Amino acid sequence: MTTSNPVASTNFIRQIITEDLKTNKNQGRVTTRFPPEPNGYLHIGHAKSICLNFGLAQEFGGVCNLRFDDTNPSKEEMEYVESIQADVHWLGFDWGERLFYASDYFEQFYQYAVQLVKAGKAYVCSLSPEEIRRYRGTLTEPGQDSPYRERSVAENLDLLARMRAGEFPEGAHVLRAKIDMTHPNLHMRDPVLYRIIHAPHHRTGDRWCIYPMYDFAHCLSDSLEGITHSICTLEFEDNRILYDWILDQLQVACHPQQIEFARLNLTYTVLSKRKLLQLVNLGYVSGWNDPRMPTLAGMRRRGYTPASLRNFCERIGVGKRENLVDLELLDFCLREDLNKRAPRVMAVLRPLRVVIDNYPQDQVEELEAINNPEDPGMGTRLVPFSRVLYIERDDFMEQPPKKFYRLAPGREVRLRYAYYIKCTEVVKDEPGGEIIELRCTYDPQTRGGYASDGRPVKATLHWVSAVHALSAEVRLYDRLFAKPNPSDAQDGDFKSNLNPNSLEVIRAAQLEPSLAGARPGDHYQFERLGYFCVDTVDSTEGAPVFNRTVTLRDTWAKVQKAQQAGR
Ligand code: ATP
Ligand code: MG
Repeated sequence: MTTSNPVASTNFIRQIITEDLKTNKNQGRVTTRFPPEPNGYLHIGHAKSICLNFGLAQEFGGVCNLRFDDTNPSKEEMEYVESIQADVHWLGFDWGERLFYASDYFEQFYQYAVQLVKAGKAYVCSLSPEEIRRYRGTLTEPGQDSPYRERSVAENLDLLARMRAGEFPEGAHVLRAKIDMTHPNLHMRDPVLYRIIHAPHHRTGDRWCIYPMYDFAHCLSDSLEGITHSICTLEFEDNRILYDWILDQLQVACHPQQIEFARLNLTYTVLSKRKLLQLVNLGYVSGWNDPRMPTLAGMRRRGYTPASLRNFCERIGVGKRENLVDLELLDFCLREDLNKRAPRVMAVLRPLRVVIDNYPQDQVEELEAINNPEDPGMGTRLVPFSRVLYIERDDFMEQPPKKFYRLAPGREVRLRYAYYIKCTEVVKDEPGGEIIELRCTYDPQTRGGYASDGRPVKATLHWVSAVHALSAEVRLYDRLFAKPNPSDAQDGDFKSNLNPNSLEVIRAAQLEPSLAGARPGDHYQFERLGYFCVDTVDSTEGAPVFNRTVTLRDTWAKVQKAQQAGR
């Protein structure tokens, strides 16, 4: 079995659409939509929905709308509207001319409401929100009719018009559908369609003071846009009956089919906008685009690529059952993509000085290094080598344990693309103190990293030339949460599961000089350390800041191997 080339697996939604096309339902049209509420930034869960909706439209020669579900004025902002558009484009999808706002339909929604009232299918109810809740009943008990249920059409029309005109305070009245207070599905017990909110809306200003509820606005928006397949997450399964009821009563020309799928849940990650907003507002992260956030803005900044996210979404598939996806799969998709595109460079995060005693004092050699062994087309570059180098502190041990094959006193190792070196002396700041320098010798007969006599070494280390190195800040990120299911907290607060070590800052890593050309957003593989990218926010001209995108450790492959061995 190979994990590198996912076959576009079919799923139940593809099958529904294929069937619809066969029977010429919707005259062969496929129109989907992605309908975010602009009350936060998009996250990886939304990416699943975006890939699904835009992907199906592409696949079946249809179109996909971007629609802002901006029906609640109190929590929505322009900042979110802009970030959502940028994120969808970044993921690689385009809505062309089909950008819509539910708020553009407010007048149409209102006319539909009037139509329902005239047909005796909706009424103005003056119970308090608390009373409405009490009258609703429970799953096991039927509800009770509101005392306002039998208001005349004329009275309802008058009250609705005055609600719209702003005559009443919030909570005084609502418009409700007149369905069945004993219906087994609670959504059908005279659901509220409109409520009074005296708050300015980010697009309609103070033109409206009554706002439609999700269940009323969503099906009508879909219908007005000629959506054929209205795809949403499973929590709306129970709302489908109301979706259909509203469209049936109004006898609209277009009645889309609502189809529910299981939302994405990821280990070590929270995907609720409410919780993400808390992390931002309480300062647990630096903002919506903090590289540890599961938002598309955060992941982009961290160095995730659109191709890796699309590939991930294809691989996890679309089903009807709630499940929890391993974060390792996402990182596997990321490594797979970066492996192909990221140039290799050498960078030393925690430098240890190495002096090559037998290397000529002022000599500098330019050694050829391969940019990407996966892609010969990416060519080679020259890396300067000189008498004083830095290697990684972790790559030396004065008293190495059995399995430590890297540098140690008296031992020989290879410096990548350079020479074999042997450690001859350990220099400390005081006897028994910290190691400040290693004295080594090199073998001139091993240029390029290979011995002419073929003698082996057990380790190859990365290095940089001290005088040529660039100093830069490097940020090492780890999982934001320490628990696979962060929402499961003993004290009930998901924030107590935050990983206290999710960010480590290295102020002066030493990088090979070719990185002088690094631009914000560029990706690299620091050999043996991981994939890194240049931070787009905090980098300044000549002073790049690097984010570690992901380590090289591929635990997903291991998980899979173990699973296969177990079979
Ligand atoms: P909240 O976090 O408050 O539940 P939301 O994520 O549902 O909000 P919306 O803006 O309504 O926010 O989402 C837009 C679309 O993205 C919806 O169609 C929703 O079903 C889908 N979506 C949201 N979260 C996920 C997820 N984890 N997996 C798949 N689709 C999702
Ligand atoms: Mg939602």
